[in-house]
Amino acid sequence: MKIAILSRNRKLYSTRRLAEAGVQRGHDVHIIDPLRCTIDIASQRPTIQFKKQELTGFEAVIPRIGASITYYGLAVVRQFEMMGVYSLNESVAIGRSRDKLRSLQLLARSGVGLPLTGFAHSVDDTDALIEMVGGAPLVVKLLEGTQGRGVVLAETYKAAESVIDAFRELDANFLVQEFIREAAGADIRCFVIGEKVVASMKRQAKEGEFRSNLHRGGSARLVKLTPEERSTAVRAAKTMGLNVAGVDILRSNHGPVVMEVNSSPGLEGIEAATNKDVAGQLVQFVEKNAKPYKTRTRGKG
Ligand code: ADP
Repeated sequence: MKIAILSRNRKLYSTRRLAEAGVQRGHDVHIIDPLRCTIDIASQRPTIQFKKQELTGFEAVIPRIGASITYYGLAVVRQFEMMGVYSLNESVAIGRSRDKLRSLQLLARSGVGLPLTGFAHSVDDTDALIEMVGGAPLVVKLLEGTQGRGVVLAETYKAAESVIDAFRELDANFLVQEFIREAAGADIRCFVIGEKVVASMKRQAKEGEFRSNLHRGGSARLVKLTPEERSTAVRAAKTMGLNVAGVDILRSNHGPVVMEVNSSPGLEGIEAATNKDVAGQLVQFVEKNAKPYKTRTRGKG
């Protein structure tokens, strides 16, 4: 099979592993930087040029689109879809997952467990927002943040008020969320492929920190999931329309709650923690599912 990995950087662990797994399984793998692709919007005959050559003969793309290049990266994925090329995750589904608020709304509608969450752009009534999530302590999150940036824990009512007012002053989009104290600084990353959790790990925040992001010094280890956690992760990925997803879950007193659904989950942490060949499983999924014009939405939004 001729497979394109859409990635800005061929040296990244995830990109390298996917290329390696593809080659090992006998595929013709090309790593293509989406920002160096030129999209030709000719009527009836969509094409893509890369380094002045037309890309032809691809049967599948594996998109690894970083948050900072979402807009153009997704245009490239969409163009592949319009050319009939199968994409491991569809452009529309990736787009959905990039919008935190939209994602939470969709997950809530399909009954996935979530922390109590309120959203505000510019409401004068800060009290109501704080009450909505059951008072302090609470977490305030900037909608544009990644890797734990812009996630603030407000321990007291007064602190919550100040943080919310400060974000408002900046005209930022943010949400307010119940603080899941009982998670004790740990979250669970579930790596979903198709309708299965193929690997999972527990990430523990370092001492004195409530955010468990590995980029913030958190550490990962193996974890055994409950059946409810498994089904929550699978349902969350399915709701977003993602074939591949990293679903982050907190263990709360009221069962598993989903924090976030990531459409380009990293492979390094999860492969190291579980010793599993997740890249190989992704390529196998592509082998089984790639068919021309199979994309559900064909980029239609
Ligand atoms: P990002 O997308 O920037 O990583 P998250 O929303 O995933 O932001 O938050 C980062 C980390 O902070 C989570 O992995 C989790 O450990 C912790 N966290 C986030 N929200 C809550 C919450 N409501 N209660 C407890 N811990 C939380």
